[in-house]
Order: sequence, then C-alpha cells, then structure tokens
Amino acid sequence: MGTADKKNNERLPYRGFDSVAVRHGQVRTAEGEHNDPVFFTSSFVFDNARQAADRFTDKEAGNVYSRFTNPTVRVFERRLAAMEDGVDGAASAIGTASGMSAILCTVLAFAKAGDHIVAARNLFGSTVSLFTRVLSRFGIDTTYVALGAVDAWRAAARKNTRLFFLETPSNPLGEIGDIAALAALAGECGALLVVDNCLCTPALQRPLTLGADVVVHTATKFIDGQGRCVGGAVVVDDAERYAALFNILRTAGPCMSPLSAWVFLNGLETLSLRMRAHSAAALAVAKWLESHPAVRAVHYPGLASHPQHELAARQQKDFGGVLSFEVHGGRAEAWKVIDATRMLSITGNLGDAKTTITHPATTTHGRLSDAERKEMGVGENLLRVCAGLEDVDDICADLARGLG
Ligand SMILES: *Cc1c(COP(=O)(O)O)cnc(C)c1O
Repeated sequence: MGTADKKNNERLPYRGFDSVAVRHGQVRTAEGEHNDPVFFTSSFVFDNARQAADRFTDKEAGNVYSRFTNPTVRVFERRLAAMEDGVDGAASAIGTASGMSAILCTVLAFAKAGDHIVAARNLFGSTVSLFTRVLSRFGIDTTYVALGAVDAWRAAARKNTRLFFLETPSNPLGEIGDIAALAALAGECGALLVVDNCLCTPALQRPLTLGADVVVHTATKFIDGQGRCVGGAVVVDDAERYAALFNILRTAGPCMSPLSAWVFLNGLETLSLRMRAHSAAALAVAKWLESHPAVRAVHYPGLASHPQHELAARQQKDFGGVLSFEVHGGRAEAWKVIDATRMLSITGNLGDAKTTITHPATTTHGRLSDAERKEMGVGENLLRVCAGLEDVDDICADLARGLG
C-alpha cells in the first residue's frame, strides 16, 4: 500500500520527527491529491463473492467496514504510531471515538473480571469515574497511589495486578511520574504500564521509548489543537497487544469518524510547532504568576521551583501548555479571577489555540467526592490555565483583572 508501508521503511526519504509528523502514512490515490482525502464511506465493495468471503474471514487483508478499518483513520493511526516510536519502531495504533473510549478499549483488551489496576491518584476526572464507578461493577478493582512515589506503586501491586495507569504531567497540578522507573516496576509485577500522554503528546514525550507498554491519547486536546473534534487513540509496540486492541475496537465499536481523523491528521502536521509555542507561553505566564502578590502558589513543571523540574526536563522535550495556580482564599476568590476575564475562554477543554481557564473543583473534578478532591490536592482556591497562542501580555493582563 504505497510508499509508507512499514516493510518499505528503508526507502522512506525521511527519519526526523517533524518530517514524520507532516508526511508519514499518506497513501495518494490516482487523483494525485496533495492533502489527504476523507473516505466518507461506511462499507467497502468487493470484486466478487470469493473476495468478500476472504475479507470477512481475514484470509485477505483489506477494508470491509469502517467500524473495522477506514483509509483516512488508517493514515492517522500510522502517523501517530510513528511519532510515538519512530519510523523504524514496532508501534501500531488504533483510532477511537474519544480519549475515554481509548482508555476503555485498553482495559477491555488487557484486563478481565478479578483483575486489579494500580493507578495514579491525580488522573483526569472521567478516568477516575470509569475505574471507580463503572469498571468496579465488572469485577475490576483499582487502587490509587501517589504518582511520584515509586515505592507506593510497589506496595499496591498484587498478584492479579494487570495494569499500572498514569498521566504525566498530571492535570491540573503538573506532577511528574518517572516513566522509566515505573515501567521497570510494572515489568517486575507482571503488569503493563499505560501512560495517558494527553498533556505532552509525542511532540514532547514518547513513553514507549522510555519503556511504557501502552500509550493512550485524547486527540480532542492538543492533537486537534483548535477544539473541533472528539477522538482518541491507543498505541502499542507489540503485535499481539495490537491484535487484542483491534479485536475490542471492531467488536465493541467505538471507532473514529473519518472526518475527525482528517482534522487530527492536519493537526499532527503542526503539533510540534504548537507544543513549543504552548510551552513557551505557559512558562511565561507561570513566571509572571509566581511573582504576583495575590498568587499563593504556581504549579508548572517548567519552573525551577517545581519539585520535579529535573525529572520533567529529563523525560520531556518541553513542559507543555497546562499550568495551575492557587489564589489566597477559596472558591469566591478563584471564581472572581474567572469572572473578571474578558478574553480567556471559560471552558473545561484544554489544548486549544485559545487560552482556557477552569475551576477544577467545581467542573472537571466536580463529580468527585470532597475526600477524593482533597487527596488529589484539588482545592477550591485552585485555577487551571491552558496557555493558548495569543500574545502572552494579553493573557497576563486578562488574569490580572481579577487578581487585584
Ligand atoms: C480530556 C482527557 C481525556 C478524555 O478525552 P476525551 O477525548 O474527552 O474523551 C483523557 N485524559 C486526559 C488527561 C484528558 O485531559
């Protein structure tokens, strides 16, 4: 299938990450299109009855139905896999309907009733709900531990632990997990290390190259980059694990729409540039906040004052767009900052060209209990900002209005 086929990698005229992000996986049709076509079709036709039978029984490779494979989604999957693991890497990806369905597919593929997950305490709110309130009903238990405490992960692991699950940096507090150390420990415990790479994307961090077994993505955030589509992906560097994931995807059905895949593909082309710009803006805003008298604390791994700054610098290329800060006081003082903004978008989303501001305790983490929020360190005085691509002076001026 065209020049980007894995077996033909020695003939690819590129190796670098940015070239992969712009070029990899594309298969031009006879029309000679420059941008990728959107294959808006639910099913595919066969030359004859024999071919139909062979495709349905996997005797012949090829498209059958867009819940299984779709050419536009396929380009996205190949490109993202190569961005995580290099053009010579063994990685393959599945595209999914959302980031949450990427996480669900991962658990359905690699765990069963009676199994156990060790997860970082500071996860995305819906991930905690999925583990604690949904998967528990199907006999899969989760123990939460502090992201940075490797010994706590060791102590929490049981004989039936199948998955270690983390996000690094964590959202909204920017805690860092040591991927290489936790990958080694997961291996010792007979578990797979799953990393949600939402906040870094492969442009800043490549967990498979640090020893992780599974990388999950929400494409909704930085991969899209402009807040248009919901989607996700799972990347693994092992053929058997890919087969297990693909089987869940085609059977359970949370597939990615071809139009969304096309939007995400175009997003991948500028991902590196955007992540550098988001990171530079977030660092500038974090430094400005750190020197502001109305700010009690700033959480951003790019600051020298961050307790895990060195670990972040070692395992990431840059520090990403998300920062959070605490104001003096509580909910009233935090809401005052949000309500005084005139440019920033008040929304739970992140990873957009437009800077967003959120009060995690009452929105993204609002469905958690007070005790769960307290354990996570998400207080009523905490605000999360995802620095966009506007001028930094305008972002700071908008935040300053309510900090007076
Ligand atoms: C948003 C988010 C998700 C879920 O992604 P959706 O595409 O909204 O389903 C998962 N993990 C993290 C870290 C997120 O920020």
